[in-house]
Amino acid sequence: MSDSHHIDDTVPAADFGLDDRSEELSERTEADAQVRFYRAMAATEADYGELLERLARAVAEVIYDLCVVYLVDEDSDELNCAAAFHPHGPTKEAIRQNFAPGNTGMAKGLIRRVIAQRTSYFRPRWRPSLLQAYHRGETPREALDIAIHSLMVVPLVSTDGDCLGALLVGRHNTVLSYDETDLALTEWIASHAAMKLETARLYRDLRQANQQLDAAVQARDTFISIASHELRTPLSTLKLHAQMLHRTACNKPERITAEAVRPKLESMDHQVDYLDRLVDQLLDVSRIIEGGLGVRWQPCDLGSVLREVMKRFAYEADQVGSTVHRQGLDSLVGTWDRERLDHIATNLLSNAIKYGQGNPIEVRLEQQGAQAILQVVDHGQGIPQEAQDRIFERFERAVDRRGQKGLGLGLWIVREYVESLEGSIEVVSELGEGSSFTIRLPLEPRGADQ
Ligand code: ADP
Repeated sequence: MSDSHHIDDTVPAADFGLDDRSEELSERTEADAQVRFYRAMAATEADYGELLERLARAVAEVIYDLCVVYLVDEDSDELNCAAAFHPHGPTKEAIRQNFAPGNTGMAKGLIRRVIAQRTSYFRPRWRPSLLQAYHRGETPREALDIAIHSLMVVPLVSTDGDCLGALLVGRHNTVLSYDETDLALTEWIASHAAMKLETARLYRDLRQANQQLDAAVQARDTFISIASHELRTPLSTLKLHAQMLHRTACNKPERITAEAVRPKLESMDHQVDYLDRLVDQLLDVSRIIEGGLGVRWQPCDLGSVLREVMKRFAYEADQVGSTVHRQGLDSLVGTWDRERLDHIATNLLSNAIKYGQGNPIEVRLEQQGAQAILQVVDHGQGIPQEAQDRIFERFERAVDRRGQKGLGLGLWIVREYVESLEGSIEVVSELGEGSSFTIRLPLEPRGADQ
């Protein structure tokens, strides 16, 4: 795989200081170096970041002097300087700075070429100006700053032939130039390092997949516990009322009068409505997740949907002492999905009543150009700034439950449905002042024509 180019330019040894390792280097055997590399890289698969640091260090210590590891980013295909090592403190720092991630001077030209051609670059006698051929006549700054006189760049080729990156190895502390043995050794190291990198990546991906799976399982468990708690509350109230009515009917039937029974029946009716809404939310969620039923485009009057929803909530609003005011247009017709409009308005109004602290609520409908603008405004507890994006996610709540009912799904469903109708939603809120949710829906969405 090596493509050796011996060049004539000689660089005087004096330029690079004392040859303090030449003897050691010439006595070193290849097998010895391989063993040292193996030892240095033992058990590195578990930590991808550490593997890269250890690789740069092992190569620098086995081949001498410095080593820079370049990697091709798996997603963006960009070339990054992933790790660098030099045994001497100050130089190491300079190398770290010069070859910091993102510094792509050398990476753009020479290193890219090595990776593209999967062929080693081998210059036993090297000087920075040689880079000009690869860098449109310029010499990258990092190459000038570090007085390398012997250079190799070896590709990191994986077992299935992908080139993961490259190792740059350079000498400047010793006058000994690299020879063919050094090149063979570096190529051997590169092939083993590529295998290690692949294993480490697989290990890392597996761990990430495991974490995602754990998070999904946890989210499901949270959901099941919230859902069962939420479903049980109205059921217990229903059961309680039914038992009381039954007991009275058996023991004191004379007390079963229209006046006595009406409030209980109203409350039962209300609990059934609430259960109905919860079941709707659960169905909405599974429908959205499965990407199931498409939008049923039809001409709808958003004004009439709002009237219906407000009627349904009259009892609930009354219970907490809120009045709901209609403002703006009485009627506005567009091409939408009536059921989705209903669920959007239901979730927003239910929240305004739940979090509105008994203050008045405004439901405003307007038209701006080819858009319908629906606003639901309350003057209740408000939403902390940091939570205003989060609340549109599944199971997210702005504050702790503190006894408030709900699955943490309403706004997520609203956003999904609004987007399916090609609209947008935004919230403006001040803590203690209230919240205003604004929905913009095109009257004639493009999807409706298809
Ligand atoms: P749920 O109300 O079931 O918890 P939602 O998805 O409808 O779930 O809302 C998510 C969170 O956003 C709520 O838990 C609440 O903290 C916050 N929130 C939503 N609407 C309002 C509102 N009008 N005023 C204050 N907080 C709100």
